[in-house]
Amino acid sequence: VGKKLYLGMDFGTSGARYALIDKEGNVRAEGKREYPLLMIEETVDWLQSWKMTLFALLKDIPVGLRSTVVSISIDGTSATTIILDSKTGESLCKPFLYNESCADALPSVKSIAPANHTVCSGSSTLCKLVSWWNSDNSTKESTVLLHQADWLLWLLHGKLGVSDYNNALKVGYDPEIEFYPPWLLLQPYSRVLPSIQPPGTAIGALKESIRTEYGFPKDCIICSGTTDSVAAFLAARASQPGKAVTSLGSTLAIKLLSTRRVEDARFGVYSHRLDDKWLVGGASNTGGAVLRQIFTDEQLEKLSEQINPAEASPFDYYPLQGVGERFPVADPKMEPRLHPRPASDVEYLHGILESIARIEAKGYSLLKDLGSTPVEEVFTAGGGSKNEKWIKIRERVLGLPVSKALQTEAAYGAALLAMKGASEHKDGSL
Ligand code: ADP
Repeated sequence: VGKKLYLGMDFGTSGARYALIDKEGNVRAEGKREYPLLMIEETVDWLQSWKMTLFALLKDIPVGLRSTVVSISIDGTSATTIILDSKTGESLCKPFLYNESCADALPSVKSIAPANHTVCSGSSTLCKLVSWWNSDNSTKESTVLLHQADWLLWLLHGKLGVSDYNNALKVGYDPEIEFYPPWLLLQPYSRVLPSIQPPGTAIGALKESIRTEYGFPKDCIICSGTTDSVAAFLAARASQPGKAVTSLGSTLAIKLLSTRRVEDARFGVYSHRLDDKWLVGGASNTGGAVLRQIFTDEQLEKLSEQINPAEASPFDYYPLQGVGERFPVADPKMEPRLHPRPASDVEYLHGILESIARIEAKGYSLLKDLGSTPVEEVFTAGGGSKNEKWIKIRERVLGLPVSKALQTEAAYGAALLAMKGASEHKDGSL
């Protein structure tokens, strides 16, 4: 009999990945699939596409390893919303995708929710629910709302109506009191809301039919999941307060583990609960997309090699792709600042990288001012994380240890949740 293994799956915007890990966190197998984009009446049938991908990934797991998979968890895109008949499990409408806006529901949501609550955005799960509720004429007697990850997990365990407090944040769940707030419970549609568990909680056994068809073991359990961005943070294993992950992708996003919950709608700052801690996040519009407007990735590599990171750049830019910034400066009219451009491209790139580092430092400093645990160490994810010179520049500007995160795949974070669920689960309690 082999070692126990834990399976995590990540359902992103264009495809899904899996990571199979052991107790020590070693990756034993991994893989990915693009969504097949099955069509129904000239639009993508997302539910069938996701379902097919889920089972395709299960088939991709090496046969010899499947019998040692003791738990499974899944993360999905945040605010992707599915409304189902709770008796039959049939969907009652097309899923609402993460970025879809239901602005028609905003006035109604704003009239019940506290000012600046995370649900007060057209793409929030609650706006999607209210929009559907107001436009659907059925009796809605047996209806349940699930997020993408919940729905996929339901296909595996068969218990309808369970979610986690990370996915449920944008439908209005309050993870601090571990309850839906009174202003939400007063609404007629509150009865369709799922019950909530902490991410990585054992929910049920893997369905027997799937278990026998694929060769998973009898005691394989399915655990509640999380959102894709929380799963990506979990992957870096920054599990102590003060540890942070900066994502240097097209944009710059920072996430810091804190003992205190921090929220400030002006800056788009909010916190996800992670057991007894809070994951505080903020996202700037600066980042790699601007670099790509000026340099090719190849130039970025060549020019970076010539930068002396110990030296401070005299240039002070604010690289933005368009007008407007939210975090760490809330100014919808802020103009990009990328001048003066020195004759040397090396100096120019140095100035841009250093300016982005200053914005990152300002971001962490703002989170502290808003009440979070001060940052102590920064891990880095995203396309910019491979730039060693940038890491050195950031260490100097932030005055902190900075390194590339060893793991950044959300699927790896989901696998860690599966491991957590398996270790906390007592036999026979499902
Ligand atoms: P996305 O947010 O689109 O998923 P990625 O995480 O793939 O982005 O990162 C892509 C970004 O990484 C690009 O915008 C590019 O400017 C940046 N990038 C690529 N190579 C380098 C490099 N050597 N140094 C700094 N940035 C880089």
